[in-house]
Amino acid sequence: MPNSALVLFSGGQDSTTCLADALDRFERVETIGFAYGQRHAVELEVRPNILAALRRSFPAWSARLGEDHLIDLTALGAVSDVAIAMADNGLPNTFVPGRNLMFLTFAAALAYRRGIRTLVTGVCETDYSGYPDCRDNTMKAMQVALNLGMETRFIIETPLMFRDKAATWAMAKQLGGEALVEIIGEATHTCYLGDRAHRHDWGYGCGACPACELRAAGYARWRATLDQS
Ligand code: ZN
Repeated sequence: MPNSALVLFSGGQDSTTCLADALDRFERVETIGFAYGQRHAVELEVRPNILAALRRSFPAWSARLGEDHLIDLTALGAVSDVAIAMADNGLPNTFVPGRNLMFLTFAAALAYRRGIRTLVTGVCETDYSGYPDCRDNTMKAMQVALNLGMETRFIIETPLMFRDKAATWAMAKQLGGEALVEIIGEATHTCYLGDRAHRHDWGYGCGACPACELRAAGYARWRATLDQS
């Protein structure tokens, strides 16, 4: 399958936008998610809802959307720290060292088996520059390592690498109009506290954790640019 992609799909705003982008550009798209002992199962619960909503609203994308793979990585919980307080080094404590490297390795192994050449991940160094495993240099090195180690020619695509959250909202609007913006607002999940009780114009969440603040601020900036134009 030359024109196929495997999207690392967590159920958040970023990976959902990347999935829509891949569905727009590739003939065949599969998704992969990881159960790694997340503090809140809500991240895993929203994934099938998002896929179903995309299928309902975008028939052309539905025809391209293939299998969803959920990989059990609960062993990762043994090396993760889920407290939200900032650590001395300035990184949020939800940080699992090298987590994205592990995700990409599993994704690549699956893609190899499925004959898929392109891996798509929503990592971004604009908003989360504190996470070294999200940086562009890390992704470039990872692509080389995977291709050497699996003797293949994977391409790791990172459509959001240099976009901020406002630009990510704009990208969703461009790809799927208000229908996609609505799906992202209603169905995706970002809040560190797993809050699905409070609905804001930008989606569900506590409104106060770093993930909610980033998402809300990006949404406000994006809407402000729309109002000006
Ligand atoms: Zn929150």
